[in-house]
Amino acid sequence: MYSVESLLSLIKKTPLTKPLRILNVCGGHERAITRAGFRTLFQHNIHLIPGPGCPVCICPEEDIAFAIHLALNENVVIVSFGDMLRVPIDCAIDGCDSLIAAKNSGADVRPISSVQEAVSIAIGEPEKAVVFFAVGFETTMAPVAAALLADLPNNLKVLLSGRLTWPAVAHVLRSQKDTFDALIAPGHVATIMGCEEWQFVIDHHDLPVSISGFHPESLLLSIHALIKNCSSRVITLNNSYPEVVKHHGNSAAKTLLKTAFTQVDAHWRGIGVIPRSGFSLAAKLSHLDVTNHYEPIDSSSRIIQTGLKTPPSCEQVILGQMAPDGCPFFGKECIPASPKGACMVSDEGACRIWYSTGERSVIEVIEKGNTQKVEIKS
Ligand code: SF4
Repeated sequence: MYSVESLLSLIKKTPLTKPLRILNVCGGHERAITRAGFRTLFQHNIHLIPGPGCPVCICPEEDIAFAIHLALNENVVIVSFGDMLRVPIDCAIDGCDSLIAAKNSGADVRPISSVQEAVSIAIGEPEKAVVFFAVGFETTMAPVAAALLADLPNNLKVLLSGRLTWPAVAHVLRSQKDTFDALIAPGHVATIMGCEEWQFVIDHHDLPVSISGFHPESLLLSIHALIKNCSSRVITLNNSYPEVVKHHGNSAAKTLLKTAFTQVDAHWRGIGVIPRSGFSLAAKLSHLDVTNHYEPIDSSSRIIQTGLKTPPSCEQVILGQMAPDGCPFFGKECIPASPKGACMVSDEGACRIWYSTGERSVIEVIEKGNTQKVEIKS
């Protein structure tokens, strides 16, 4: 195992013909990168750019609006992972622009930390209709699938807002061709889906990719592999998380996902509709689908935008086009205590991470007694 010091030394010794722009698409990676201070260390040479790696940030406003509507008007208990309660939407439902606002208005909205908690609430209160607002990527959706395929109480229904990661990454790389030089792929998703799912980055985008774990050594191993690839122009799929990520992934979890869900076109907040990027309940689980039991607010399809609009800077941050502190609201009108956009809510949101850790795209460096402003991310 390499040490952080030896990896940093290897990275510094690897010749670069130009500054590299490396896209990282996992909120856990972004948190580890900022906490380790990698951007400050690399400054101009290696730009680490956060992408659409936070499921809370990309959950479409219409799903949140529907959950608020159910909580306020249909006398149901809404249960969801804690971060979802604070995500704001632009269009208030009966005056409530978040689930926490609905809760404060008297609706029964409860934070949970696992799908088992949702099941326990439904079992414990059989007289109440309980709706599990399920938001997450493949890693979260696998245990959700396992729970939904087991015996469930009749009073539990599901509002599903699960997403697959790779179609969004493909969308970002396709729509911003020649913007990125390499990709750090998410280790948790690859644990479930397998290394080979990221081969498309090489085959279709001609870019090197490295699957990374979440400790600094694993991330530095990935960065070293990617810059070696870029400098030698030999493009490979690298796995810096071999202790967990295997070829073909976790076959039991993949079977659960395939059995419980089908892949559908899905709306991503700030991005739009991405083909086959969402999980929908399989026909055998349609009795759990909340949309089969309650009228939606908007009678049009759930994948069509409702006209609700996310702030443009949130979209740019999600797509890796703007550093979080490039947003005019960052740290002013938008802070974790009163978020203006979803990226400031979740622990996996780039704005929240940058705000909480003090990460900035321009830092002040004192050299020979003079203070200089140094840009560490373009
Ligand atoms: S600082 Fe707030 S408004 Fe600006 S991009 Fe981030 S979440 Fe959106």
